[in-house]
Amino acid sequence: MDGVTSDRSAPGRRRDEAEAGPGPPPDFRAVILDMDGVIVDSEPLHERAFYEVLEELGYGRNTGLRFADYVGRSDFELWADFVALRQPAQSLDQLLALKRDRVIKVMRREQPIFAGLPELVKRLAARAPLAVASGSDRAVIDAVLALKGLRGFFSVIVSASEVARGKPAPDIFLRTAGLLDVPPRDCWVIEDSKPGVAAALAAGMRVIAITNTHPAHELRQATQVVRTYAEIERLLLRPR
Ligand SMILES: [Mg+2]
Repeated sequence: MDGVTSDRSAPGRRRDEAEAGPGPPPDFRAVILDMDGVIVDSEPLHERAFYEVLEELGYGRNTGLRFADYVGRSDFELWADFVALRQPAQSLDQLLALKRDRVIKVMRREQPIFAGLPELVKRLAARAPLAVASGSDRAVIDAVLALKGLRGFFSVIVSASEVARGKPAPDIFLRTAGLLDVPPRDCWVIEDSKPGVAAALAAGMRVIAITNTHPAHELRQATQVVRTYAEIERLLLRPR
């Protein structure tokens, strides 16, 4: 398996586990969750919404952009590149709104919260303050957190529009830590994307990467790599 066990003293552990970094500190003070690909299984929905909007606008799929290149980055960057490349009749703001409204509509209908995530959030919230740091639009974040009663477990929410630079820059995580009033070194981040992992590390935080979007070997930079939410619970909430 590619996952990392929480028992670091276990004999015969795999080499990549041994190299995964130090175990979690006994006194972390906050956990910051990415949203897309961590809370909500939204990357396929974003991709579908992106291409549906393009097709409605008459562009088809030959836009010169690959959606996969933008996983973990903001819609703004995606559409800004599209505008620069194709110079459409619609403004950047109009394109962002079309895509945002489409994503919200699909999310409300399908409620694609990852199985096991609500239980993990509930248990983590009993241990430390939780935050969401997401490259998504604030309206999309609010729509997602309205599902499954999640909103009440998060004390801080920061969206892409509130910081100057998106992931992989550390800005969004540093702002989140500031609002939590917790030093970055006392924060753990849960991420699924490579830019997200890089951003958390650049912020001086420890990061658990879950293999919802990329295979484990592509997330090796993370402090820990896991495949399931139960593994995150064992890592962060194991008895001291
Ligand atoms: Mg993500």
